[in-house]
Amino acid sequence: MNLKDKVCIITGAASGIGHGIAKRYIADGAKVVIADLKLDAAQKTADDLTAQGPGEAIAVEMDVTNEDQVNAGIAKVIETWGRIDVLVSNAGVQIVHPLQDFPFEQWKKMLSIHLDGAFLTTKAVLPHMYEAGSGSIIFMGSVHSKEASPLKSAYVTAKHGLLGLARVISKEGAKHGVRANVICPGFVKTPLVEKQIPEQARDLGISEDEVVNKIMLGETVDQEFTTIEDVAEVAHVFAAFPTNALTGQSLVVSHGWYMN
Ligand code: NAD
Repeated sequence: MNLKDKVCIITGAASGIGHGIAKRYIADGAKVVIADLKLDAAQKTADDLTAQGPGEAIAVEMDVTNEDQVNAGIAKVIETWGRIDVLVSNAGVQIVHPLQDFPFEQWKKMLSIHLDGAFLTTKAVLPHMYEAGSGSIIFMGSVHSKEASPLKSAYVTAKHGLLGLARVISKEGAKHGVRANVICPGFVKTPLVEKQIPEQARDLGISEDEVVNKIMLGETVDQEFTTIEDVAEVAHVFAAFPTNALTGQSLVVSHGWYMN
């Protein structure tokens, strides 16, 4: 199972987990599209990873909530490489508030980035995958696709929703050789998580150490963060797996925080 010459689009790949997945795919010889909000950050990532090889990367400016930008980005990929084998819908943000104070605009923004983003990118790549008779779609879920935490109503709602969308894609896509799966990481130290530590300490009235050791890692089997490389390895398996035997699934990678 390898990704040599496979064309893989990864949203939110200029940072964190998406960047790590891009690095893993390029190490395996893939042609990777770094799709992110800001072209300069995406371009820098693409240049750095191409220099590492043996695969190569291009950058695409894409706000995953904007249908025109998504469609233009996918059109650029087709123009450049003529096919799409893998979509990793990974772009995401976190906004925490107690439910009674959650601003409606921020609720809508959260659902839009996570759910509209997954829908719009999937809708744009499916015709190309169906034409080729194969494809792998991967959503970046979370332990919060299965569990709830205080302050994270919009995030938990969106991440649960991705499970449903992946299952529908699995059923509609099967006859075209298209699979869909969800990765559900525990806490990974990326900018998204670093930002939450002081915010949660403030909102919950506890110290930052308590946020890390009790809230983030308290339920793990070994009090360890999941790493970007752990998640990238799972993303490699889902991308490279060759048949519909592995579809409609979600895999939790969280040091045992959530077991199912
Ligand atoms: P990150 O902040 O390091 O990276 C997120 C990337 O998404 C950034 O490059 C950002 O520019 C991009 N992005 C944000 N909004 C976008 C938009 N509208 N269009 C295109 N790109 C956009 O965060 P991360 O921790 O690497 O998170 C990546 C994914 O992993 C998210 O979906 C997140 O919910 C999920 N996740 C993270 C953790 C964790 O602990 N870090 C755990 C479980 C799931």
